[in-house]
Amino acid sequence: MRRLPTAAALCAVVLLLAGCAGAAGERAGADARGQDPAHAAGPLVRPARLPPVVDRVRTRDPVVFLTYDDGAERDPGFAGLVSERRLPVTLFLTDRVAGPGYGHLARLRAVGASLQNHTLDHPALRGLPHAGQRAEICGQQHKLRSRFGIRPHLFRPPYGTYDRTTLRAAADCGITAVVLWRASLSADGELTYPHGEPRLRPGDIISVPSAETESLTPAERTVRLLGEIEGRGLRVGRLEDYLRHEITGRRAAGN
Ligand SMILES: [Zn+2]
Repeated sequence: MRRLPTAAALCAVVLLLAGCAGAAGERAGADARGQDPAHAAGPLVRPARLPPVVDRVRTRDPVVFLTYDDGAERDPGFAGLVSERRLPVTLFLTDRVAGPGYGHLARLRAVGASLQNHTLDHPALRGLPHAGQRAEICGQQHKLRSRFGIRPHLFRPPYGTYDRTTLRAAADCGITAVVLWRASLSADGELTYPHGEPRLRPGDIISVPSAETESLTPAERTVRLLGEIEGRGLRVGRLEDYLRHEITGRRAAGN
C-alpha cells in the first residue's frame, strides 16, 4: 500500500527547493534572537543562502566605511584615535596575526570598533577545497566567539580573492556578507581605486591594509585619510549597521 508523505517529509522536500513557511518563521525567529541561522538550524536542514559580495553600500547618506586588516590594532596610537574621534571602524582579524594582540582588540572593541572575520591563517582561498575554506572561516568564527563572545557576520577573504566555494563556506559559518573594498589606502597614505571612478563617493568601503613600509603608522594614515574624507563632506559610518539594512532590503526585494 502506498503511504501518503507526511507533512514533515513534504516540508523537507520543499525546503530543499525553496524553503517553506515553517522554515521562514524559524529563520526570522533565529535572527531576532541574534543567532546565526546556519548554526541555529543545524548543518543538514537546508542549504544556506549565499552571502552577497560588496565593495560599497547603496546609500545616499554622506558616509564611507573604514576597514582594517592585519595588525592595525598593534599601533598603540590607533585605539586612542578611534576612541577620541569615536570612529566606528571595522577590523578584519586573522588569528595568526591578531592572536598575540587580543588585549588591544578588547580595548578597541570597548571604544566602538567592530571585530570581523579574516580567516585563521590568511591563505588565498580561491581554488581550495570546501572543507579547507570552511575550516579557515568557521575556525576564526569560533576563535572570535570564544575570545570576545561575539558572532561575526562579515568576512573579508585574504587578498580579496575568493570563489563560489568561499561563499558557500562563509554561509555555512554564519557570514551574511563578504566585504571587499572600493578604495585602498597605500603605505604612503594615498587612496587608490582598483576600478571605477577614482574619487570617494558615499557608500564606499575603504580598506586600510597593514603597510609593509612603516613610514606612517595606522593612526597617522587614518588621520590623513580623515582629512580627505571630511574635505569631501563625508563622514565615517558603521559598516555593520548599513550592511544589515542593505541585506534586509535585498532579502525583502527577493535578491
Ligand atoms: Zn589580510
